[in-house]
Amino acid sequence: MIEILNVTKKFGDKVAVDNLSFNVVEGEILGFLGPNGAGKSTTMNIITGYLSATSGTAKIDGIDILENPIEAKRRIGFLPEIPPLYPEMTVKEYLGFVYELKECRFPKEQHLKEICDVVKIGDVYKRMIKNLSKGYRQRVGIAQALIGNPKVLIFDEPTIGLDPKQIIEIRNLIKMLGKEHTVILSTHILPEVQAVCDRIVVINKGKLVANEKTEDLILAVEGSRRLTAKIVGPEAEVLKMLKSTPGVRYAESIGKRDTDSISYIIESEDNVDVRKSLFFNLAKNNWPLIGLEGDELNLEDIFIRLIDKEKSDKKKRGAKKG
Ligand code: ADP
Ligand code: MG
Repeated sequence: MIEILNVTKKFGDKVAVDNLSFNVVEGEILGFLGPNGAGKSTTMNIITGYLSATSGTAKIDGIDILENPIEAKRRIGFLPEIPPLYPEMTVKEYLGFVYELKECRFPKEQHLKEICDVVKIGDVYKRMIKNLSKGYRQRVGIAQALIGNPKVLIFDEPTIGLDPKQIIEIRNLIKMLGKEHTVILSTHILPEVQAVCDRIVVINKGKLVANEKTEDLILAVEGSRRLTAKIVGPEAEVLKMLKSTPGVRYAESIGKRDTDSISYIIESEDNVDVRKSLFFNLAKNNWPLIGLEGDELNLEDIFIRLIDKEKSDKKKRGAKKG
């Protein structure tokens, strides 16, 4: 549905996007990630025809955005990083204006009403945009993207600046839209990606770093996991059992007594989740597990691990050649 092939964008000497290629298949929700300044917005602006690439092509539904921008744009709904809202207009005026701008052919009132129902802005329809909360404004931004019912939706950091409740609402909305659209979503929030995206593309300094199914990517970067477990049972025997559990690389008692339990640190081998076997082994011995905590990874950790991995892979390849 979306094909990006060898796209490069230079601003003067600065290379913002560097020979980037990836595809998005129909019906997929793609998470587009990378540190600040990685080139996400630039790429999204190229896909949507807001910016032209220095070289390379972007196609939507087989249509080249540069060769046939009108037809390509008809297939795209875009929520830019800064939504193009007119604060002095009411929601109704603004959506009517976008409807005309897009030369939309659906029956106007019914189409706009359906969209307002989907994004839940019916109750502010006659209010001025400047008087809306950030969450509502973001919904209006999504509403304008939905006008014309485009096949492809592109959202640049749709939840930035929202509070946790609004984030969950917008996330659920995107998940729902993903059932009937192909979606590219850039975000900074890991649970968002895990909850919503089928696949993840990571870029850094304009270059592709990873392109994998969400669960594969998370597993690949998780590597070794460190858990803290609180267990009730005889210390030496518990520790012996922990150490002999398959997938456990290291275990030690940190002795911290919390009523009758003892805390242990458990490190797993790379890419192994030992939590289930720990649970069953403890249950077999009648040693209650009363707490289990892991160090959760955040997106920054993932970027650092991916970028490090890429560097060491490159070194290895270089060493083989030399
Ligand atoms: P991201 O969205 O991933 O944070 P951007 O695509 O906004 O990254 O920016 C990528 C790089 O290109 C950054 O280094 C940024 O400073 C630069 N850049 C973006 N837009 C322009 C522009 N109009 N002129 C010059 N440099 C730009
Ligand atoms: Mg950006």
